[in-house]
Amino acid sequence: MTDLNPKTRLETHEVTNQPTARGDLDLWADDHVLRHYAHLFGADEVDLAIYGKCLGRENMREAGRLANRFTPELRVFDRSGRRVDEVTFHPAYHQLMQAGLEAGYAARPWEDRPGGHATHAGMVMMQNQVEPGVACPMTMSYAVIPALDANPEIRDTWRPRLMSRHYDPSVRPANQKTGATIGMAMTEKQGGSDVRANTTEATRDGDAYRLRGHKWFCSAPMCDAFLTLAQTKGGLTCFVVPRWTPDGRRNGIHIMRLKDKLGNRANASSEIEYHDAYAQRLGEEGKGVKTILQMVHHTRLDTAMAPAGLMRAALSEALWWVNGRAAFQRRLIDQPLMQSVLADMVLEYEGTVALGLRVAQAFDGPEAADRAFARIGVAIAKFTSNKRCVNFIYEAMEVLGGVGYVEESPMPLLYREAPLNSIWEGAGNVIALDIQRSLARESLAGEVLMAELAAARGCDSRLDAAMDDFSARWPHGAPESEARWFAARAGTLLKAGLLVRHAPEAIADAFIATRIEGQRGDVMGAIALGDPRAIVARVNDSAAA
Ligand SMILES: Cc1cc2nc3c(=O)[nH]c(=O)nc-3n(C[C@H](O)[C@H](O)[C@H](O)COP(=O)(O)OP(=O)(O)OC[C@H]3O[C@@H](n4cnc5c(N)ncnc54)[C@H](O)[C@@H]3O)c2cc1C
Repeated sequence: MTDLNPKTRLETHEVTNQPTARGDLDLWADDHVLRHYAHLFGADEVDLAIYGKCLGRENMREAGRLANRFTPELRVFDRSGRRVDEVTFHPAYHQLMQAGLEAGYAARPWEDRPGGHATHAGMVMMQNQVEPGVACPMTMSYAVIPALDANPEIRDTWRPRLMSRHYDPSVRPANQKTGATIGMAMTEKQGGSDVRANTTEATRDGDAYRLRGHKWFCSAPMCDAFLTLAQTKGGLTCFVVPRWTPDGRRNGIHIMRLKDKLGNRANASSEIEYHDAYAQRLGEEGKGVKTILQMVHHTRLDTAMAPAGLMRAALSEALWWVNGRAAFQRRLIDQPLMQSVLADMVLEYEGTVALGLRVAQAFDGPEAADRAFARIGVAIAKFTSNKRCVNFIYEAMEVLGGVGYVEESPMPLLYREAPLNSIWEGAGNVIALDIQRSLARESLAGEVLMAELAAARGCDSRLDAAMDDFSARWPHGAPESEARWFAARAGTLLKAGLLVRHAPEAIADAFIATRIEGQRGDVMGAIALGDPRAIVARVNDSAAA
């Protein structure tokens, strides 16, 4: 309220021209774009509605902020000098983990109900809007489940724990807990992309093995077990390494230090050493890469969906700001050039969500063609959406002006997070080459990619011409040096094809004009669309309310 007392009134402290506080949000109900594609691609809208409402509440968004600000701490020894190798987290971290696992973040895709992966993908998107760090252990716990099929005994032990929908952060043997999480430790100092360079050694010890070696990255070291790779006589092999040995002792997994990372701060990423750590083999000796790829394939879905969440959080914040802020006697939302910047973001966002959820639907599909499209599609979506994400967040930050650069706004968190999903689970070049290799080795990969593009033929002559050019230029994929171009173009065409079939006409038309036809410069908002208001309106009604 304005202070009218001339003695106490401080005119410079009167707050004007700032948006009202955001309060509770609903990450599901407020997001038409997510709802549209989640419906179209078979997600469970009830599950998503519950999770989106829960995560959007002010207290959960505050928990996200706290979990990032008060970062995990490594405790190597107890007060008596015994090794404990524990990491402690702020209570907000546990609050978010509990909400996610109870909502079915890890379990839902494997429950006997349809649409599990599409539902999971929507959850990934919403989780990333609030706090991306906790997504890492939850994602790994989701993704490890199909890899466990390589050993029925291990599967039958761990699967019920992972599927329990309980979060149990206590540091005890997993058989004494109400729920468990599993992480992954592949990367070593001498090679991350090239895991065949792993030097960790596994030697037989009765039915089990003992591991000696290091891992350069092991995120979420408080997980109850890790999938890891080590060399045996038969070659690189996959193992499950529990935190506790079967006789109830702490396993020989030493946490050497936590990484001081650019972002993803709520998540403890560590370096570890195996000191004759007890391990059970998962799959045959020498088939380690094949076995762990089952897990990697599924974590890739999450890295393809995460940028959609980061984009949505940034866009939503930008819209809230421009609706509540004026400059030069006009609200920012009404400034034509600001509308161009926002419209360009809306197009990017919708394309990212559409492709991500279409790929997630393929993960749910029963046919060989679904599985083939899931494999090639997830790599294309991961590549293209992450490459667009960093610049998107930076532009959204600039929409807020100076306060976008300040830690009280969510923009710095989003900005620091933005590059990560491109790096892990296969960095950009590795993914682009992987796409190329799949096309060369699996004829079905090329067939399903072309079939997906062909489904959009006849809807827009500009898109048809671009597809002709694409097919003529790379009839069997691309040379190695052009793999990025191929991946980026395939992503843009897939997005355009989905939008032309499923988005409102104004969105599809503008996407094609700017991303296919060339009515766009090389910076966000450099678009020649005349009046971009209809595009901004696609996402702005809830922000304006
Ligand atoms: C925050 C964070 C958490 C992580 N958590 C985990 C974890 O829990 N478990 C785990 O195992 N790993 C984890 N990682 C590691 C991550 O998966 C690797 O960093 C990643 O796979 C890349 O491996 P690298 O760092 O060894 O890079 P390199 O393999 O050395 O690659 C460096 C660059 O070379 C490029 N490149 C590689 N091969 C080629 C080629 N043939 N042609 C052209 N370019 C090429 C890559 O694209 C990349 O840009 C984590 C990483 C981060 C940042």
